[in-house]
Amino acid sequence: MESQIKITKTSNSGLKDIDFDNIPLGTVFTDHMFVCDYENGAWQNPRIEPLKLIPTHPAAMALHYGQAIFEGMKATVGKDNTPLLFRPEENAKRFNHSAVRMGMPEIPEILFVEAVKRIVGVEHAWIPPQDGSALYLRPFMYADEPFIGMRAATSYKFIVICSPAGPFFTKKIKLYAETEFIRAANGGTGEAKAAGNYAAAILPTEKAKAKGYDQVLWLDANEHKYVQEVGTMNIFFKVNGRFITPSTDGSILKGITRDSVITLLKDKGFEVEERPITIDEVIQFHKEGMLEEAFGTGTAVAIAMVEAIGYKDEVITLPQENPVSHDMKTTLDEIKTQKREDQHGWIVPV
Ligand code: PMP
Repeated sequence: MESQIKITKTSNSGLKDIDFDNIPLGTVFTDHMFVCDYENGAWQNPRIEPLKLIPTHPAAMALHYGQAIFEGMKATVGKDNTPLLFRPEENAKRFNHSAVRMGMPEIPEILFVEAVKRIVGVEHAWIPPQDGSALYLRPFMYADEPFIGMRAATSYKFIVICSPAGPFFTKKIKLYAETEFIRAANGGTGEAKAAGNYAAAILPTEKAKAKGYDQVLWLDANEHKYVQEVGTMNIFFKVNGRFITPSTDGSILKGITRDSVITLLKDKGFEVEERPITIDEVIQFHKEGMLEEAFGTGTAVAIAMVEAIGYKDEVITLPQENPVSHDMKTTLDEIKTQKREDQHGWIVPV
């Protein structure tokens, strides 16, 4: 596989213009991208080339019918400055799960992982070494066939771009439990990382921000009472010494950080219940003084501590101290930078 990837390098790197201590969010991209074409039923022509605009036909099916999926991952540097990935094969699996749901072709896991490794190898110097910083990787696939009509496209592009990122969301977040709009319904696309899911979340998120909140706490589509996720993260509640996180029910994105945190909490001796949990239960736990901590989990931030939750006319404020949330954040950061032993074999050196 490795030898088949053709690499064309730029002679004009943008690296010299970047201040790693002040990286603007989401607007800086590295010099190169990985590209692979799906034509005639097969993935072909894998290559790394200078980042550039991608010519798009106005009838490209992704623009009309939304066949577009993505992943989010991070590369860090470990001991001896080796670039590291965190559980990349899990992103490959989830990418294919998303592809199947959206009627798109799967990509061999080995090609996905190799693509990510090779682009990170080429962009090694772009991985910010600062604590909590990383090179954010965005693998994505979209239908580029020009066609007007409802069917699966026959041609696609798989691309990986990279963007250096400083530490995100260092502040605690305020959540707005949304009772009007929903993110996902059973049988829908919530378990896929499909572009359209994010489009549908924009308006409710903007409205929550206008009310003074940071993120939407998504509730289920049928009864508007079961907690699903928060913004683009999974959610955990610490109640009376144990943890509860909503069970993945077909409409919740199966977060890789979620899965890792469940393992780490169990390692530390905590009980973790994966079960449906209603917003009323959360409020009740708070009233009884049992809601000790809550946090969101996701690749971008690792752990985002929750400060308050607004639901209908009520706002609950969580305790100031978040010892376990902090511990989880530190543990994940340290595993990702090889400052702590990787007991579960999650780290993949490039
Ligand atoms: N839920 C949603 C909707 C997301 O977009 C993400 C980010 N991928 C997550 C949860 C967290 O997933 P992960 O831990 O794999 O980043």
